[in-house]
Amino acid sequence: MKSARRIRVRGVVQGVGFRPFIFRLAKRWDLNGWVLNDQNGVEVHVEGEAEAIQLFLREMTAQAPASAQVAAVEIKDTTVEGWPDFAIRESTRDDRPTVHMAADLAVCSACLSELFNPADRRYLYPYINCTECGPRYTVIENLPYDRPHTTMKAWTMCTACAREYHDPADRRFHAQPNACHECGPQYTLHWQGERICDHVKAIEKTAQLLREGYIVAIKGLGGYHLACDAENFRVVEILRERKRRGAKPFALMVKDLQTARSLVELSSEEEALLTSPVRPIVLARARRLLQNVAPDNSDLGVMLPYTPLHHLLFHYNAPPVLVMTSGNRSGEPIAYKDQEALEVLKEVCDAWLIGERPIARRVDDSVFRVSAFGTAVLRRARGLAPLPVAELPGERPILAVGADLKNSITLVVKGQAIMSQYLGDLEHYEAYTAFAQTIHDLMSMYDVPLEEVIVAYDLHPEYHSTRFARELAALDHVAVQHHRAHIASVLAERNALDKQVIGVAFDGTGYGDDGTIWGGELFVGSAAEGLKRHGHLRQALLPGGDAAARMPLQALAGFFNEMPAWAADIGKRLAFPERFFTALKLVEKRLRTFSTTSVGRLFDAAAALLGFTGSISFEGQAAIWLEHLARSSPLEKVYPFPWDEEKGELDYRPLLIAMVEDRLLGREAGAIARAFHRSIAEGIYRSVLALGEAHGIDTVVLSGGVFQNALLLNDLRELFGKSQMRVWLGRGIPVNDGGISLGQAALAAVTHGTA
Ligand SMILES: [Zn+2]
Ligand SMILES: [Zn+2]
Ligand SMILES: [Zn+2]
Repeated sequence: MKSARRIRVRGVVQGVGFRPFIFRLAKRWDLNGWVLNDQNGVEVHVEGEAEAIQLFLREMTAQAPASAQVAAVEIKDTTVEGWPDFAIRESTRDDRPTVHMAADLAVCSACLSELFNPADRRYLYPYINCTECGPRYTVIENLPYDRPHTTMKAWTMCTACAREYHDPADRRFHAQPNACHECGPQYTLHWQGERICDHVKAIEKTAQLLREGYIVAIKGLGGYHLACDAENFRVVEILRERKRRGAKPFALMVKDLQTARSLVELSSEEEALLTSPVRPIVLARARRLLQNVAPDNSDLGVMLPYTPLHHLLFHYNAPPVLVMTSGNRSGEPIAYKDQEALEVLKEVCDAWLIGERPIARRVDDSVFRVSAFGTAVLRRARGLAPLPVAELPGERPILAVGADLKNSITLVVKGQAIMSQYLGDLEHYEAYTAFAQTIHDLMSMYDVPLEEVIVAYDLHPEYHSTRFARELAALDHVAVQHHRAHIASVLAERNALDKQVIGVAFDGTGYGDDGTIWGGELFVGSAAEGLKRHGHLRQALLPGGDAAARMPLQALAGFFNEMPAWAADIGKRLAFPERFFTALKLVEKRLRTFSTTSVGRLFDAAAALLGFTGSISFEGQAAIWLEHLARSSPLEKVYPFPWDEEKGELDYRPLLIAMVEDRLLGREAGAIARAFHRSIAEGIYRSVLALGEAHGIDTVVLSGGVFQNALLLNDLRELFGKSQMRVWLGRGIPVNDGGISLGQAALAAVTHGTA
């Protein structure tokens, strides 16, 4: 007897070959009916023999395409409608979307073998893709995901491509960006204001220019990269100067895994990350020095080729290790429009390899690191955005606008928290524009009306994101304290908003409840019932305001605020520059000084004490310098960094005094830096155990930019390994401010998520 089922599949099921998969499955089991994409995912109607339907359903869940993420399957009995065959129906759009946009995928192995097969009609075609690979988020202009809603809408498929596109048995069946030499977009090379060659020739010539030591802007998936030979230290230096990059490290793209292994130490976990479909930049310990690539840094950021174009460049003998850094001027977001790239990068690069397929939105490369506590994302972008990252309580839509540094935003639709790509620092106009655009994009794609939205933002009144949020004509506005958001982001990711934890939020800066700058906070409680501040770093002063964050010496003067005469004497004996003494005077007179509990600034102060007396050119530079220095020495001692339970205070004074004494004794700076790291770890360990004991709590959450420090994490792992305390850190959510928007969304969901 015939029966019928109506099936609803939710999750990441569009743009990943799900409909063709269903089609082939229905054919295999001789079932009739249809499948379609709509705002809620994929809907299927099958009818036929009951036994065949059972087998169909079993294989549907067991054999779904690799890049699909099925969140839920609902199956209902329905009446047999007498369909003559099985068909893929047109997409519909009728309700608020809950389907998830797919992220961009690295070129798959099937496409790669066609790319290098001379008999294939796509031999050497740089835009080859299929339902299992290629661009998604970077070409989608609107939902549902269909060619007219992508940046491929301008190209009409040739007969051969159209045949594949309409053939359910083909692996390009409904591959929206499907194209070939005949009908699709191409690359062109521009040199000194002129277009000098096209198509495959342009790629071959680019490889040659890179070999000859030129800098080329190369259009990729989510924007332009600036590429040059990483082993040619002169051209790397030129790139650094032209980009006004300061000392910030450059990311590398290497020809293959073998080359990566020769460059950095790779564990099996790190190799798995490198070769995953996300193809992120992986930070790993450098094996050899590449001059000018990552000064004073123990790590190199390495990635493998991920677009067909990248593979073609190496095929044409581009240098095996390329600098592949965001195509921008220092600090600005990556350029992604051709005209913009030609304009903005003209003082930086010698040539442009321009691809015709437009990029719908800028998306940087994602960055990962494997630390003592496992794999963690440091920058969530290509390959990950805009996938959902957590489920939150309540049904109201929530927009969380994040913090101003390393901004990302989170939109919660029907309880699903969708996190945007990394958007950069909002003080840059271009980044701010991207921020506003991304909010607009996600809200309109998910059909969320502003007047129904709860907007969550940082407590900092001066943040650009705060001002933006407050001006939105939303249903309600919720300010969320920065460090609580750090802790809540980790709890949200683990679906543990009710969990009682100790929360340790250590970072550079965040606006506190009392209006001072926080950054060394210890909380007790849960996201659901509230995180109460139970301790913090002893308060220090920051002379000169924002400048203190760029000048570690000024921070050091601020940490010596309770012993000015002694500090002046030390400054003389260690021959500190004048800036230190000027800052000390400000501190003494309490002129232009701010109170802070920032552990990030304590790291800066320690770096200054050990010789970092200049200014920093990127956030976290002094701490990275200090970590690099510490790695040169074995652990020999630990300084006192006591936890005062009564005051709820970690006291940095004995720590700094002990460091000064060692410096005056002529102890090696590396050894002091090493001991400093261990002392911080022990301070955290002791305070957490004490709070855990007092409150009967067995889990600690570590979050905030300070926990990007791999050496500190090693030490913490060692210490906590001896205890019963469980340690949670962000995994798919950055511990830095890139994770703030999820924490804001989670805390807003708890208080305002339900009508
Ligand atoms: Zn493919
Ligand atoms: Zn074609
Ligand atoms: Zn922060």
